[in-house]
Amino acid sequence: MIDTHTHLYLPEFQDDIDEVMARAEGAGLRRCWLPAIDASSLPLMQDLDRRFPGYFSLFAGLHPTEITDDYQAQLSLIYKALQSGAYKGIGEIGMDLYWDTSRKKEQEEVLRTQLDWAVEMDLPVLLHVRNAFDETLAIVREYYNKGLRGVFHCFSGNYDQAKEIVEHGFLLGIGGTITYKNSAQRAFISHIPLSSIVVETDAPYLSPVPFRGKRNEPSYVPYVLKALADLYALDVDFVEKQTEENAISLENQKKHK
Ligand SMILES: [Zn+2]
Repeated sequence: MIDTHTHLYLPEFQDDIDEVMARAEGAGLRRCWLPAIDASSLPLMQDLDRRFPGYFSLFAGLHPTEITDDYQAQLSLIYKALQSGAYKGIGEIGMDLYWDTSRKKEQEEVLRTQLDWAVEMDLPVLLHVRNAFDETLAIVREYYNKGLRGVFHCFSGNYDQAKEIVEHGFLLGIGGTITYKNSAQRAFISHIPLSSIVVETDAPYLSPVPFRGKRNEPSYVPYVLKALADLYALDVDFVEKQTEENAISLENQKKHK
């Protein structure tokens, strides 16, 4: 079992990270992917990686809501980090027009820059999209024939969008929101091949039922797997195995030359 999106380096976990990790291992988690938010995430992620060797895959990137006036400096720090080879991919990156649309142009520019790096360095991307699905997809489409691959984390699009992106080799990251009765994705997710799905928590955010509203953590991944197993009408062990394989193959995949 792999949690493909978790922010265990945030202050929310500072006081009890050992217990959180023990519960994760107890629940059967073999690995967690840690996406950065900005350059300041990187040393925190490195610390965690040293404390729990072999447990994490690290991703470096500039999150769309963290684009401030110094974003060019942020980008060059992140680019340098990526070139060190210590990172499995680029994330989280994307577009977010939920709270603030004033930096839409910069968001698009920063996204394109990081997608170019992904192609150049042959690395997968972890995409964050909120209230900006059409805008993001318009940009990602420019990369369909360039070998770009990755995950639409916490997938919030509709069926047609899901179908289009999985047909182009992207994976959908499914987390706690799939357990919410009002989740739009519940209606169609089982029409998407399970080979295109990975599971995540987005901890400390978006806890699955029955922990909705509380702090999320990787040991809650089984609640996501159970919800998916019910929707697909498949055995939960099978869903666990298949989604883990999907995550591993994204990490190991290289561009077909
Ligand atoms: Zn995240």
